[in-house]
Amino acid sequence: MSILVCGGAGYIGAHTVYKLIEAGESVIIVDNLQTGHRKAINPAAKFYEGDIRNSTTLEKIFTENKIEAVIHFAANSLVGESVQNPLKYFNNNVYGMQILLEAMEKFGADKIVFSSTAATYGEPEKIPILETDKTAPTNPYGESKLIMEKMIKWIKNLRYVSLRYFNAAGALESGEIGEDHHPETHLIPLILQVPLGKRDHITIFGEDYPTPDGTCIRDYIHVLDLADAHILALNYLRAGGNSDIFNLGNGKGFSVKEIISSAEKVVGKKIKTEIGARRAGDPAQLIASSDKARKILHWTPQFADVEKIIETAWTWHKNNPNGYED
Ligand code: UDP
Repeated sequence: MSILVCGGAGYIGAHTVYKLIEAGESVIIVDNLQTGHRKAINPAAKFYEGDIRNSTTLEKIFTENKIEAVIHFAANSLVGESVQNPLKYFNNNVYGMQILLEAMEKFGADKIVFSSTAATYGEPEKIPILETDKTAPTNPYGESKLIMEKMIKWIKNLRYVSLRYFNAAGALESGEIGEDHHPETHLIPLILQVPLGKRDHITIFGEDYPTPDGTCIRDYIHVLDLADAHILALNYLRAGGNSDIFNLGNGKGFSVKEIISSAEKVVGKKIKTEIGARRAGDPAQLIASSDKARKILHWTPQFADVEKIIETAWTWHKNNPNGYED
């Protein structure tokens, strides 16, 4: 029996595949390589290049392999782009989920671990955010993920775990795989482009938030800790666990300025900054309560230290200043 990883060539998908293979699992990857990278595909996995919206592709995969469970990462994930082009998000993310669930139902695959997001909450009413808090997404990306979560819930004979990630960061410590988005919009890789000489400065999006230093606070979580949570979720479902939703974060927030000064320590250089306007839709603070994942999934993040997280990102970016170049 194999695990089908949809989107296994993407950032979090590739790190999860690495961990699955390490754990001795048989892994099948399907990825359309729209945002994923051929070079990020683990050679120990069986790879199908294709789109999950194509039922013929999925039926071929389910016919040629015995799929025990699906881990689903295959989705678009840029907040700004989703505001510009909401239908792209409803098509790829929501319709993609529809076709995937149809194939799973048809072939009797009865477990799914779903890559969801803190963006399902929208502007939080209180910090830290609990799974029981109100979900009111402020952009189509978050809305599409919330719809996907809700779709899964209604499928008979399917058990699920939805994992709501906070800010994924870092890379495999060896620097073999890492983060490579086009365009890059995330804070840590953009900061590291400055010491790499690829960017003159990092723009801080707003310095007038109601936080101690005026910049936004986020909960940064290492990509390998996210990967571990997927494997724990899979084993939880295998052991008969009930369908559920879990936050994944460190439970500790860092401001944009704190992240920049940690990055300066890691790279041993001053990083030039400029203050810019606020980015639309950015809540002042997003911090997870991950107590539920710790208690029920027995998840313990290994990279609680933000400097350590940035260090692993720096190893990857230093070794691969132009990303995968594929
Ligand atoms: N940010 C910033 N400058 C940048 C990119 C991001 O100040 O060039 C800020 C952004 O406003 C947010 C935080 O860094 O408060 C993290 O942003 P990112 O896009 O990495 O993740 P998000 O929180 O949007 O998921």
